[in-house]
Amino acid sequence: MSERNVRDQLNRPMRDLRISVTDRCNFRCTYCMPKEVFGDDYAFLPRNELLTFEEIERLSVIFAELGVKKIRLTGGEPLMRRNIHELVGKLTHIKGIEDIGLTTNGVLLKQCGEKLLNAGLQRINISLDALDEQLFGKMNGRGIKPSLILENIEYAQQLGFHMKVNMVVQKDVNDQEIIPMATYFKNRGIVLRFIEFMDVGNDNSWSFEKVVTKKEIVELIQSEFDIEAVDLDYFGEVAKRYCYKDTAAQVGFITSVSESFCSSCTRARLSSDGKFYTCLFASNGFDLRALIRDGATDEELRAAIINVWERRTDRYSDERTEQTAKNRTKINMSYIGG
Ligand code: SAM
Ligand code: SF4
Ligand code: SF4
Repeated sequence: MSERNVRDQLNRPMRDLRISVTDRCNFRCTYCMPKEVFGDDYAFLPRNELLTFEEIERLSVIFAELGVKKIRLTGGEPLMRRNIHELVGKLTHIKGIEDIGLTTNGVLLKQCGEKLLNAGLQRINISLDALDEQLFGKMNGRGIKPSLILENIEYAQQLGFHMKVNMVVQKDVNDQEIIPMATYFKNRGIVLRFIEFMDVGNDNSWSFEKVVTKKEIVELIQSEFDIEAVDLDYFGEVAKRYCYKDTAAQVGFITSVSESFCSSCTRARLSSDGKFYTCLFASNGFDLRALIRDGATDEELRAAIINVWERRTDRYSDERTEQTAKNRTKINMSYIGG
């Protein structure tokens, strides 16, 4: 079957595929998997319900034929999926895939880093929300110290990975960490990206008041450093970037709330149990695993994916109100993949 670039109802192509490889995590970030909800008795997916690496590879080949060029492995915590490097090895060989990245909380990097590098992974995004020990321990819900993550960031950088750090900012929770984080990563030449707190899932007590907007963060950083906006690199680039005038370091902003970017959203998502979602804020996904395990041919899988994408009309962030944030039932971020 020849390649075909599918377009949705708003003429958006499918360029990125975010694959959640597990719904489990060794953190309990308050804004993602609060421990009151994700407690000891929480029912995570049993192993046989997760897509196998072979199933993920098979679907990724089809997604690539339909226009996907970039794959990001996420979760849950992707490094908790056993032998994740083997999956990376399979995906690097897919025709049309130009870029593979992985988003992690960084705790297990020392155990997996070298194997991932040898398998062909080049880019890692690490999430870190504060340098203050007590605050970070509280935010990750497990008392993990920032020094461990910083050490692992340095380790991965030395191995040769291209690294970015993601910080989710919440008003009156960790906004006082913006300048210390910016200073720390500026000095090390690592891109720090500020993510506006989002109303993903239904468990993180989100409200507009808790969002610190890009505008507020830029103003704060400009009170300390000279930064200026950089042009977008390509259609669908999510982060708005700024460079410091005196170094090559940059900061980025994921402005899902204050400056939504649905009109150029080219991201498809695959949950760990094989559901295909066309938006981070979706309520339902299309069950590709059921098709695969019922013996569907590649042609049938391709037709199903085309059909879902061609009907896509999602633009949740463009339309977000306090009401939609409260009333819509959404899939949890740890399950759908951030
Ligand atoms: N466990 C990995 C990690 O934390 O990097 C990968 C999965 S996590 C769901 C992916 C990204 O989503 C992380 O950078 C995390 O900070 C971000 N995230 C989770 N919940 C969020 C929320 N409510 N608003 C904004 N970003 C969020
Ligand atoms: Fe785990 Fe990542 Fe969610 Fe934190 S943000 S709970 S590390 S999946
Ligand atoms: Fe894409 Fe949905 Fe986010 Fe809009 S709200 S940018 S459609 S994932």
